Formats: sequence, C-alpha cells, structure tokens
Amino acid sequence: MTAHDYDLIVIGSGPGGQKAAIAAAKLGKRVAVVDKHDMIGGVCVNTGTIPSKTLREAVLYLTGMNQRELYGASYRVKHDITIVDLLARTQHVIGREVEVVRAQLLRNHVELVDGHARFVDPHTVAVEGRARTTISADKIVIATGTRPARPNAVDFDEARVLDSDEILQLETIPASMVVVGAGVIGIEYASMFAALGCRVTVVEQRERMLEFCDPEIVESLKFHLRDLAVTFRFGEKVVDVAVNEDATVTTLASGKRIPAEAVMYSAGRQGMTEALDLEKAGLQADRRGRLEVGPHFQTSVEHIYAVGDVIGFPALAATSMDQGRLAAYHAFGEPAHELGALQPIGIYTIPEISYVGATEAELTTSSVPYETGTARYRELARGQIAGDSYGMLKLLVSTTDRKILGVHVFGTGATDLVHIGQAVMGCGGTVDYLVNAIFNYPTLSEAYKVAALDATNKIRALDRFST
Ligand SMILES: Cc1cc2nc3c(=O)[nH]c(=O)nc-3n(C[C@H](O)[C@H](O)[C@H](O)COP(=O)(O)OP(=O)(O)OC[C@H]3O[C@@H](n4cnc5c(N)ncnc54)[C@H](O)[C@@H]3O)c2cc1C
Repeated sequence: MTAHDYDLIVIGSGPGGQKAAIAAAKLGKRVAVVDKHDMIGGVCVNTGTIPSKTLREAVLYLTGMNQRELYGASYRVKHDITIVDLLARTQHVIGREVEVVRAQLLRNHVELVDGHARFVDPHTVAVEGRARTTISADKIVIATGTRPARPNAVDFDEARVLDSDEILQLETIPASMVVVGAGVIGIEYASMFAALGCRVTVVEQRERMLEFCDPEIVESLKFHLRDLAVTFRFGEKVVDVAVNEDATVTTLASGKRIPAEAVMYSAGRQGMTEALDLEKAGLQADRRGRLEVGPHFQTSVEHIYAVGDVIGFPALAATSMDQGRLAAYHAFGEPAHELGALQPIGIYTIPEISYVGATEAELTTSSVPYETGTARYRELARGQIAGDSYGMLKLLVSTTDRKILGVHVFGTGATDLVHIGQAVMGCGGTVDYLVNAIFNYPTLSEAYKVAALDATNKIRALDRFST
C-alpha cells in the first residue's frame, strides 16, 4: 500500500503532461496534473503552436494570399486587416482547445491542481496557486516546457521589443519589423507578418537558416519570402536595439542600422526548471534549463520522468505527446514500443515545409546511393485548381533496394501530405508501391505518384546503362 496521495503527479499540462496523465489514468492510476489555471494546455495551446497556427490561418484567409494566383495580385478578403481581426480567431480557438483539454482530463478522472509546483522532496511537491497545497506521488513526470530565452543586453518593453510569446500582445500590425533569429519560430512569424504587408528584416548570426531541411526547399522559401519584401541578413549579429516612442533602431555588429516599428526576438528557448527547486528532488538542469533523460524518459532519479520541450530536441508538440504516453507506460510497467524513429518535421511558414526521413546531405555524407523523384504542383490538376504553382514534392529513393529514404514537401498541405510518405516508409514500402497505387484525382497526393514515376524513370535509365 502506498502512502502517497497519487500514483502520478504531472507538472505541466502541455502536450507531454496531458498525454502522460491520460495514459496513466487509462491504466487505472490516480493522477494529478499541476498547472496555472490560465495555462491549461501549456505553451502549445496558450502561447505557442495553437495561437501561431491559428494566426497563420487568419492571415492566409484575410489577405487572400493563396487565391492571388487565380484572382490577381490585388485580391484581398479584407483590406484594412487589424490585429483585432487576427486575434479574434486566435482567442476563439484557444478557448475551445482549453475546453477540450480540460474535458479530456476530467473525463479520465485526472485531478487538475491549480498553481505552480516546486519540489519539497523527491516524492512531494508544494503547489502555490489560488490556494496552497502539498501533494505526493509514487511517480512524477516533469513536463514544464520552455520559455523564450532573452538576451540580458536587450530591453524587452512588451510594446516594441518583444519575444515570441509577447507577439500576440501587439496592439497594431507594424509596418516594419526586425526578426532576430531565423529558427523555426522566427521564420514562421516573419512569413506571417510579411504576408500582412509588413516589411520584415530577418537577422541571423549563422550563415544559413533551417540547415536541417532540404537546401532546395529552403531556397524556394527564401525566394518566396524575398518576394514578400523580406530582407535577410545572414552572418550578422545584433549589438544594440534602441527604442523611442514611435520606432526602434537595431544596430548590427557590421555597423548596419535597421529602423523598424517593432523588433521580435526569437533566439532560442530556455527550459522551465529554475523555479522547480530541483535540488530537493536530487536533480539538476543544464545551463539551458533542460533535463537529461534515459531511453524511457527517466531522469537520474528513477521515479521522476521528464518529457516534452524541457528535455530538448526535437521540441515539437507531437513528439512531446508520445514521450508523455511512453513515460507513463514505463512508470507503470505497461509494455510499449520505443518512440517512433520516423518523426516528421512541419514548418508552418508561408508556404509551408514538411519532411520525414533522410535529407540528401545526410545520405551523401553516409554514402547511401539514392535517386530523386520530383513532382511540381503546377503539373498537377489540383495544384492548378488550388492556385499553387510553386509547391513541390521530392522523394529520395534507394537505388539498391528501391525503398523510400526521405520525403520533402513544400507548398499547400505539405504538413499533411508528408504522412503518406511516412506511412509507406514506416511499412518498409518501396517506390513501386507509389508507382502502382491509384490516387484520387485531382489531389495534391497525386504528387507522390508523379514523383515516384520520375524516380523510377531515372533508376531505369541507370539500370539500362549498367546491364
Ligand atoms: C511560437 C511557437 C510555435 C510552435 N509551433 C509548433 C508547431 O507548429 N508544431 C509543433 O509540433 N510544435 C510547435 N511548437 C512547439 C510546441 O508548442 C511544444 O513542443 C510543446 O508545447 C511542448 O509541450 P510540453 O509538454 O513540453 O509542454 P508546454 O506546452 O511547453 O507546456 C508546459 C506547461 O508547464 C507549465 N509549467 C511550467 N513550470 C511549471 C511549474 N513549476 N508548475 C506547474 N506548471 C508548470 C507551464 O505553465 C505550461 O503550461 C511551437 C512553439 C512555439 C513557442
């Protein structure tokens, strides 16, 4: 018999925490989730994934961006788009999503404890919220996520100089903006503001952006963003941001000075562990606030697990969810597979990018022979109907066993389309499956067949030469 209040306490109600809690509850365990009442659903629902993706949807709809190919460059659904237009949709979706999360937890008899948790000892946490309480459990999952990292030298004023969490608090759509950091979050927001007609300058200290993606696709994205008046400053470092009532001036180490109405910093994220009193649990975070875990998401203290962004890469909602589920299964001895090796990456820029599996660079470095097969949306009937002439899907196919090694998609529906390739790859399928499959017509999915035919034609040419 346990003397603890719960079988499991989960700290943080983001995707990782939610799924850990629900998985444990489904196993018949007594579970509590601790989070502040205005953060139910985590960064994901309140300040990160959901608001940014809803904002993107609102931008795409109101600007009429995706329809301009068909109706002309001046096409707009609304002319003077205001921040209120954009945020109305965002707030609506956040409200609904919070309800979904709450209902799911309640339905599974997971207790929601309001407040901020800190360790008292390795099995006990004190919670400070609207009330104070102390609760204990056999197992604990830390799913506290991250917050934007803020360089000390920069004065964030919540009005003109903001981090990516504060961007949703802008009172007007700025006419010009400097985005510092060309990581996924920075470049997603840069493309949204550019689509709204804001003149965006992206400053990135590295020489490239999104280096983990296919370079051909990143080039296409840069071309598109430049077309929307985005200026890139690669290999440049910000040394100062000056602010007055109307504007900002960002000074770069090279001496360039960039005036803009607003500056958004997107310079990485810091694990939310500093206020957890980790030492009382026998734990320690690294200098970026992250926790190290073993293969089953156990920290150095066996009964304490950590999942989601607080453990670092890949820091995505979908991965965090599965980490949470697997941590709970392990904690309560439920057999489970390991985290799926094929994890898709989705980047919701305008246009969007998604991929799964290897990149050309990785295959080349590891001397794996492959051929590419490409389909351009403009050659697909659905591409023409949708007015997407720039989209593309690229398959990387092994020339030895014809298996699909990677799928890279750019354009409308990329983040959904990638899963077809993921399923084929996950089942060990070859390019021949895609050649022989019948796809609905007209669809963007048909890109798979076109790309597969392209790849097999190239492989055939090679085979003919060899025999
Ligand atoms: C702008 C932005 C856009 C993003 N877009 C995408 C995307 O398109 N796709 C995608 O897959 N991912 C995206 N992400 C990443 C995604 O949001 C995260 O991977 C995901 O939210 C991580 O989940 P998590 O379980 O770690 O918890 P989080 O969602 O990070 O939530 C952590 C929770 O823990 C709570 N907490 C922290 N400390 C304590 C404490 N001491 N006591 C109690 N509670 C505490 C916090 O209040 C918070 O609610 C985006 C992130 C950002 C910032």
